[in-house]
Amino acid sequence: MLEILILSGKGGTGKTTITASLAHTATMSSQNPIICDLDVDAPDLHLLLKPNIQTTHEFLSGNEARVRVQDCTGCGECIDPCRFDAMKMQEGVAQVDPFRCEGCKVCVTLCPAGAIDFPTRYCGDWYESTCRFGRMVHAQLFPGQENSGRLVALLRQKARTRAQEIGSELIISDGPPGIGCPVISSLSGTDLALIITEPTQSGLHDLKRVVDLCNHFRVPLAVVLNKHDLNPAMSRKVEEYCQKNWLHFIGRLPHSPKVVESMLAGQSISEQDPQGLGATLRKIWAELMEISAEARAA
Ligand code: SF4
Ligand code: SF4
Repeated sequence: MLEILILSGKGGTGKTTITASLAHTATMSSQNPIICDLDVDAPDLHLLLKPNIQTTHEFLSGNEARVRVQDCTGCGECIDPCRFDAMKMQEGVAQVDPFRCEGCKVCVTLCPAGAIDFPTRYCGDWYESTCRFGRMVHAQLFPGQENSGRLVALLRQKARTRAQEIGSELIISDGPPGIGCPVISSLSGTDLALIITEPTQSGLHDLKRVVDLCNHFRVPLAVVLNKHDLNPAMSRKVEEYCQKNWLHFIGRLPHSPKVVESMLAGQSISEQDPQGLGATLRKIWAELMEISAEARAA
């Protein structure tokens, strides 16, 4: 099975629109991919792929303190020991601020009345869906919830299971932004990362950080430069950086009004502009397939 992860290091590079187009291209080549949105904090691939949700599952992770007010004596012994300032007295009883509670269990242990429950935390939902390009696995973490790395790992595991069930040999994942825990969770064990960058100083800076991360985890990578015509001087710098570091630089995409048109139409850019941008994306996909074959043979 081949797992391809699309990363960017920063938001706004066009990662999700390119992911949708590569999923479309793979489907047109009869590759029957499983599509996975690993940007669980702010998913947006569903806006383009419009999945039909087949099943919804709760994502439970960690624990949180909850005071049973009818059992609380108001002694206040749980207030100061909470290092996260999550416990407050209100109208004579203790109350937990769920956004501050880190689930350390100290208050539960110290409460002389045994008035604090410690249930599992409901952090969000994850979904199994179908869309016009195949099966899709995606999720939505609730605002302020942590453990996105665990949710990413769960989605990847579900995607692999579904791929095995339907005999799919390909998983295409839209990765989270940045280089934090969810990105690390997406990268480990991935076969190939495609990094989408843009010709700006911050684009180059973030490209370097993601490249370092991929190298650290020994994940082969390729680079695509999006909106290359917006800043030719910076585009040259990005390409020089790739050349100097022996990175697979596999394509450039121009800044195009077709991108906005495709978003408004809820389509991938390869559907909206099959002869122009779509043709470039097909070449990029063919290069990716070659690189992945080489990486597997190595
Ligand atoms: S320690 Fe227990 S009984 Fe005392 S205020 Fe806190 S929750 Fe209430
Ligand atoms: S579980 Fe820990 S963080 Fe949460 S309220 Fe209790 S002491 Fe504070």
